[in-house]
Amino acid sequence: MPSIIQLLPDHVANQIAAGEVVQRPASVVKELLENAVDAGASDIKLIIKDAGKSLVQVIDNGKGMSVTDARMCFERHATSKIRQAEDLFSLHTKGFRGEALASIAAIAHVEMKTKQDQEELGTHIVIEGSKFVSQDVAVLPKGTSFGVKNLFFNIPARRNFLKSDTVEYRHIIDEFQRVALAHPKIYFTFFHNGSEMFNLPPSSLRQRIVNVFSGKTNEKLVPVNEETEIVNIQGFVCKPEFAKKNRGEQFFFVNDRFIKSGYLHHAVMAAYDGLLKDGAQPSYFIYLQVPPNTIDINIHPTKTEIKFDDESALYAILRASIKHSLGQFNVAPVLDFERDANLDTPYHYKDLEGATPTIQVDGSFNPFSEEEKPNKHFTNTNSSYRRPESTSNWESLYLGLKQDSEEIDTMTFENETVTSSLFNNDEVEQAVHKTYQIHKKYIVNPIKSGMIIVDQQRAHQRILYEQFLTNITVHLASSQQLLFPLHLYFSNDEMQLISELKPSLTNTGFVFEETNDDSVVISGLPVNVSESEASIVLEQLLSDLHNGIPESSFSQNDTIAKSMARSLAVKTGTYLTEKEQENLVNGLFACKDPNVSPFQKPTFITMRVEDLDKKFAL
Ligand code: ADP
Ligand code: MG
Repeated sequence: MPSIIQLLPDHVANQIAAGEVVQRPASVVKELLENAVDAGASDIKLIIKDAGKSLVQVIDNGKGMSVTDARMCFERHATSKIRQAEDLFSLHTKGFRGEALASIAAIAHVEMKTKQDQEELGTHIVIEGSKFVSQDVAVLPKGTSFGVKNLFFNIPARRNFLKSDTVEYRHIIDEFQRVALAHPKIYFTFFHNGSEMFNLPPSSLRQRIVNVFSGKTNEKLVPVNEETEIVNIQGFVCKPEFAKKNRGEQFFFVNDRFIKSGYLHHAVMAAYDGLLKDGAQPSYFIYLQVPPNTIDINIHPTKTEIKFDDESALYAILRASIKHSLGQFNVAPVLDFERDANLDTPYHYKDLEGATPTIQVDGSFNPFSEEEKPNKHFTNTNSSYRRPESTSNWESLYLGLKQDSEEIDTMTFENETVTSSLFNNDEVEQAVHKTYQIHKKYIVNPIKSGMIIVDQQRAHQRILYEQFLTNITVHLASSQQLLFPLHLYFSNDEMQLISELKPSLTNTGFVFEETNDDSVVISGLPVNVSESEASIVLEQLLSDLHNGIPESSFSQNDTIAKSMARSLAVKTGTYLTEKEQENLVNGLFACKDPNVSPFQKPTFITMRVEDLDKKFAL
């Protein structure tokens, strides 16, 4: 047998390695930004086109490269950052693998310009798919510029696998923010398709956070500071009342490197114990400094996970220091020496007295009535709201066991021949006049062949989803005018998303009076969205888009309809009047696809008399 093993040619090996390093345009952004930081730049510009699919360019004023290094940097395992394995334990740079540039050059068109400060002239190199196309001497400013065009041009499968511009752009923003937050002393600017998205001059940490996430953020932050033998902790956590529904702004940095850690996240959440509403997520920006030899950054190829020597001590210290800060903030004004005076509340606001609260008395309130308020989601039907009978819910059947016994009898002993088919809508219509809500979660409804049990939350999601989808696509939505327009604040990148979604949102019934850099003024809302829900709906939508929901369902409209349905649907745990239960069941079966929620979960189950009989026969 002849020998068959061969070494792969370099360009093939590089392409394979690239798969690990470069998953999407955002990976290129991360690597180039990190290289610029490692080069000691004080000014870094990120320029992208078409969410990085056509161009990612990073320009820095760092130390630049010599002619030889300019050529060498594209070789695999070529790095100036470590020389021997031991250096891994005293790392002060972001990079160390020497793989990024080789990988990027293997799968894109790269143009690099670089010049060292002391040199007269710089080097200009063009390399495409690992092939050097040209190398010239050029007059250049100090520093390095990397332009990466046509990513994955030679791997069509990869290119086709890229998500929509909105999703890819979102990933780029994430990477940009992580680097910008880790280095407040570096001037960062970011342009997308010619518009300036971020302009972050060198500043204090607090000011950097505020510049990245809009002016509103400042009042939400509480400083955290702790110095111990094993770790120094610095940063900010958000006041409990500003916690959000999504996990958007949660950042850990270890030695100026963004990391993810479920364990440390848990420590932060433990510090908030008892201060947050169920499921609420606080924003936090925590900077840990530890001796480089007590961590191992090498366990994850893209380096967002690291291993600490003494994780449990870190956990305890982090939890205690955040707890302390939150406590301090509750009892006394916090001394924050780093605070920028411009960010403080103007004095005349501080001295203003709060408005005297007014008391509204509901004259018809009867503390002994069991009735609860009708749910507004169901009041847009024609029939007027009817007082529920005293036996209208399941529990009361146990209490009274009188008036309804007749009805129960007929229901149980109705001697129907049981059809094996699933019940059809006719059946529901005939039987819908009596429903029971159990555990504020399910609606039980007798039908000819037995009964159905409807999950109220999922059913309502389905109804709203179909409504919104029709409104968006058929442009039929009506809106309610607001007496006082709502002013809602968003971060820069959230605003970008909102502008993109504006046409679709308008179709659902939102009326945008103004769209500014960091806020919108809304003068009309979809009929089923109340004023207090408006910001929740938009926030949920942004977070859904952030989490990449469109990846599974392709169209943005679909995402909007799903997200709004989820935010607005009546939740498990909500009491529904009989009328509301009835409307819900009717509404569900008027849907095109009543069987599943928009998230593909069953909305109801059927139990045939036959099934019940079987259970009793045991
Ligand atoms: P690593 O960052 O892991 O060392 P890279 O492939 O990202 O590997 O870069 C290879 C080398 O190229 C770096 O070690 C550095 O010496 C040089 N380099 C890359 N980008 C820059 C830059 N913007 N300015 C100066 N030198 C750079
Ligand atoms: Mg690098």
